[in-house]
Amino acid sequence: MTTGVTINLRADGGLERREHPLLPPRPGGALLAVERANVCGSDVHLWRGGHPTLHDCVLGHEFVGRVVDTGGGPLYDARGERLAEGDRLVCSYFRVCGNCAMCRIGRMNLCEVAYASWGRSSLEQPYFRGAFASHYHLHPEQFTVKVPEELPSSLAALANCALAQGLAVVDRIRADVLPGPCLVIGAGALGLSVVAGAPKETSWDVYDRVAGRRANAGLFPNARALDALPPAGGALDGNYDVVVVAAGTPEAFGTALEQVRPGGQIVMMGIINTRDTDVVSI
Ligand SMILES: [Zn+2]
Ligand SMILES: [Zn+2]
Repeated sequence: MTTGVTINLRADGGLERREHPLLPPRPGGALLAVERANVCGSDVHLWRGGHPTLHDCVLGHEFVGRVVDTGGGPLYDARGERLAEGDRLVCSYFRVCGNCAMCRIGRMNLCEVAYASWGRSSLEQPYFRGAFASHYHLHPEQFTVKVPEELPSSLAALANCALAQGLAVVDRIRADVLPGPCLVIGAGALGLSVVAGAPKETSWDVYDRVAGRRANAGLFPNARALDALPPAGGALDGNYDVVVVAAGTPEAFGTALEQVRPGGQIVMMGIINTRDTDVVSI
């Protein structure tokens, strides 16, 4: 039987290479060969033991995989396009059952089984459920999208995490506070994905303590990098209608409170949280 390899995070923080048999995919799923896997900031947090429950698992969730086995059945992406062996895919890392209470009100990221396949030990079948591996078992309940041929895997790999979160934040920015001045705190992939996905008529200031990171704001015509934040507003004023916190630190939330105008909006993103709130808007 053909085998593949996973890089498993052990409970003691070590990484262990394990070899497993490649099982056939379940109906409606697929076996993918991992073509590219990014190291997300969440992977680093988890590697450092920053998650309360995930301590023995295969990390990696920003990736592009190539279909090597469809199990013989028809396979379609989220747009309804029929997929074939050799196609490159990006996949949501969480599952969506479509039937639970949250799925029925459209909050699919909070599906009851969202994380039933993610962060599992590679000792459990079907073994390949993280992207730091040679292969990945796509579950039938995961959304997937075929990557166009002209798009390199290096760009497509962040679509299912950083870019998806950035677009979700843009969706949650209230229409009544746009298009005032907006601020992003944190110029990593998350923060810059918000700028990339925001309406072009909005203007964004981008702040990051690391000069090299905030300089990347210059890549976007509707953004400018700030070397320092403007003086904090008083109790009844502020500088920004929208403040997006993408820095992953508690201190950044305090900064957001100082910078937001009355009636404005703060959006937190990229917070590891085991409760039901993935993004908090106020
Ligand atoms: Zn990620
Ligand atoms: Zn569900």
